[in-house]
Amino acid sequence: MANCYWIICFLVLCCLVGVYEASAGDSDPLYRSCLKQCEKTGCVGERCFSHCKFSSDDSSLDSPWYMQQPLYLWWKQWDCQSDCRYHCMFDREKERAELGQWPVKYNGKWPFQRLYGVQEPLSVAFSALNFAMHFHGLVCFCSLVYYKLPLKPDKRPFYDYVGLWIIYGLLSMNAWFCSAVFHSRNLTASILNYRDIDLTEKLDYSSAVALLGYSMILAIIRSFGLRHDAARVMVAAPLIAFTTTHILFLHNYEMDYGWNMKVSVAMGIVQLVTWSIWAGVTRHPCRWKLWIVVVGGSLAMLLEIFDFPPYQGLLDAHALWHASTIPLTYIWWSFIKDDADYITSNLLKKVK
Ligand SMILES: [Zn+2]
Repeated sequence: MANCYWIICFLVLCCLVGVYEASAGDSDPLYRSCLKQCEKTGCVGERCFSHCKFSSDDSSLDSPWYMQQPLYLWWKQWDCQSDCRYHCMFDREKERAELGQWPVKYNGKWPFQRLYGVQEPLSVAFSALNFAMHFHGLVCFCSLVYYKLPLKPDKRPFYDYVGLWIIYGLLSMNAWFCSAVFHSRNLTASILNYRDIDLTEKLDYSSAVALLGYSMILAIIRSFGLRHDAARVMVAAPLIAFTTTHILFLHNYEMDYGWNMKVSVAMGIVQLVTWSIWAGVTRHPCRWKLWIVVVGGSLAMLLEIFDFPPYQGLLDAHALWHASTIPLTYIWWSFIKDDADYITSNLLKKVK
């Protein structure tokens, strides 16, 4: 009997997980029938798609991209299925809006307005600006430590964290590049095979996790002032192992959004708490910049947790979160440069 209860509990749980994972829009019968109709006729209402002239059970769907569509359409037009989904979704959302209903998600995503083939244009633009901010910050930081500040007799900087910050800058640029590619996914889809959209998503998530894991290590090393290699390795090794395992889990086992969100938020909170405790006890002259980044970063994280549908089909919570990190990145690199300046002048005072 007890076994029976366990089986029922398990089945209920499976159903709940299933309901939770499917987006509300996907289960809408009107949306589904529109999709079915479109895949059969290649039309949604009066709009017909020229490259949509195959039946839904066409075996060519499983063949590579060059078998599915002519080359001249390959880079310019989206796939039939994507067009059907997009137009059915918008027609359905229009009807829902007329009835005064709130927007719902389709395939796990909010209904976004495409702009020049880009699925989430504002997220792409903000990701590109974040990339530019990190590039600018990294170049300025390197020119400060290697050309403006005095160097040791062996031509190495006095500041002990140069290498760590350079890796941080590169990982950040990588993460924002992957983010821009992922958010432009319909453009990417028209250039790549459709299967590869999954890859851009995985790359976006894993590069963000890699950055979060690395910046957590950096937060601990810098705030505790760890300058010996042995101590640094002791902090870094378990955290690198954990981050790598998590990324491998996402890539090879299951792309679990809920679990990934929990891990990312936990990593984010650990570094925000580390930096804020340090900002509270240190006498660093630029700790106010650290405070701005910690408070701003915490507020920005709330945007990622409390999602809302896109305003005018363009600006959603996620895009706003990407926008908020642009000024924070500028202040952050300014703090890093001030830190290099402060530590170098302190060490020089001691030498004298
Ligand atoms: Zn994003």
